[in-house]
Amino acid sequence: MKIVFLGPPGAGKGTQSERIVKKHGIAQLSTGDMLRAAVKAGTPVGQKAKSVMEAGELVSDEIVIGIVAERIEQPDCANGFILDGFPRTIAQAEALDNMLMAKGMQLDAVIELLVDETRLLERIEKRARDTEAAGGQVREDDTPEAFKQRLDAYHAQTAPLSDFYEITGRRRTVDGMQPIDKVASDIDRILAA
Ligand code: AMP
Repeated sequence: MKIVFLGPPGAGKGTQSERIVKKHGIAQLSTGDMLRAAVKAGTPVGQKAKSVMEAGELVSDEIVIGIVAERIEQPDCANGFILDGFPRTIAQAEALDNMLMAKGMQLDAVIELLVDETRLLERIEKRARDTEAAGGQVREDDTPEAFKQRLDAYHAQTAPLSDFYEITGRRRTVDGMQPIDKVASDIDRILAA
């Protein structure tokens, strides 16, 4: 099963991905996590991505497509995968279709979580306050300021993906502001269809 999750940062894609991964025994591929790992390890990709990520902007299509192409060849992707945070641009979506087509495969589902962004920002601000109150450090790209930039980047570059998948008849939507369990059951219904 090969699934793409769409929706702005903070919409709950990570939470739902984790659940689906356990349920279907597929790999969870978060390009954000992969890039953060590369930054931490100081790899050449990480060095290129670091400042871009801290500014809340998008890493180049070339880098991200390369990471994903390599990753989906790993054995744990044999059963399928759920992509979280990729594609974020039309170029990435086309590259993904081509990668899969070359393997005689295609996406099984494209699910977009729809959210109320004002309420989303309030959630992020609360999460930052709670983390600081608990003595923790807010992830550099998870401050309310960086979050706003990520939302802007989402709108500027990623929102057209909705149209891309809509036009190709693959887009399904779920109300991401519902309780987590309800979001989960809506997603399960789409995957079972
Ligand atoms: P995320 O955890 O998915 O919000 O990703 C964190 C950051 O990693 C983003 O703000 C981008 O800078 C970068 N990133 C993750 N996925 C992509 C992607 N598909 N294309 C470009 N940049 C990405």
